[in-house]
Order: sequence, then structure tokens, then C-alpha cells
Amino acid sequence: MQSPINSQLPKRFWSQVQQGETPDVCWEWLALKYPQGYGLISIRDRNYRAHRLMYYDTYKVSIEKKLVMHLCNNPGCVNPKHLELGTAQDNTDYMMKCGRQKFGRVGSKPHRLLEPYRTHVISYLQQGVKAKDIAVYFGVSRSIIAYIRKQHREGLV
Ligand SMILES: [Zn+2]
Repeated sequence: MQSPINSQLPKRFWSQVQQGETPDVCWEWLALKYPQGYGLISIRDRNYRAHRLMYYDTYKVSIEKKLVMHLCNNPGCVNPKHLELGTAQDNTDYMMKCGRQKFGRVGSKPHRLLEPYRTHVISYLQQGVKAKDIAVYFGVSRSIIAYIRKQHREGLV
């Protein structure tokens, strides 16, 4: 689709967005995607999640240390109307409400992290972010991050 006048994103970003028939349907990201389904775009050698850039570009508010959540549950969607800023806890609550807590285990394991959350943790680890900082970001203890890293190394997630 065409780049809006006030957009600071490159034209090639917008050329990879499929706008739906009406403004309210999902806008699909046509190019590369992360394994979790989020749109991926590289700008100056850094990879970004397309929906996060879209949120920032549209609403011009800081998304640092915040999650940009999909109200439509479609990770490949970049329609700003379907995106909402939230904390990690909001995301968990929302996923629970939607019944998507596939990996939520109660009790036995030392973590309450759910699947959408965990992929973020792994991607931060892969980007070299320290476990300590990730723990602060998500408001959880370091042992949870260490546990996820261990599971990931063992190929469990
Ligand atoms: Zn959508």
C-alpha cells in the first residue's frame, strides 16, 4: 500500500503491507516473517517486528519496554487499529481470556510464562540481551529466564 504522508517508515515497508478491502480488516505483512508469524523487516542491519514499527509510526508514542499486542490474534497483521500497547501482564491476561494459554502450566514448573511471551524472551536472548535485563523487562525473576534459556538450548522450545 501507499505510504501515508506523515510516515517515517521507508517506502519498502509500506510496499510489503497488504491493505484489506475495508479499513477494519487485517493488513497482512507480505514479506519475511519471524517463526512466530510476526512481520520482519531489516532497517540498517537491524531486524524489527513490523507491527511494532507500525504502532510507533502511527501513534508516535514510545513502545520501549512495552509489548505491542494484536487484538485480532493475527501475528502477521499490521493494521494499527488492531494493535494495542500493553504490559507483559496485559498480554498474559488477554491470552488467558482468549483461551490461548497452550503452555501455561500451573504449579510444578518455576515459570508462568505463556507461549507468546516465551518467544519474545528467546528472541531477546538471541539478540544478546542479558537475562537480568529481560527479567526486569517482563517483571519476572531471573530463574524464569534461565529456565526458558535452558529449555531452548535443549531444543524443547
Ligand atoms: Zn488484524
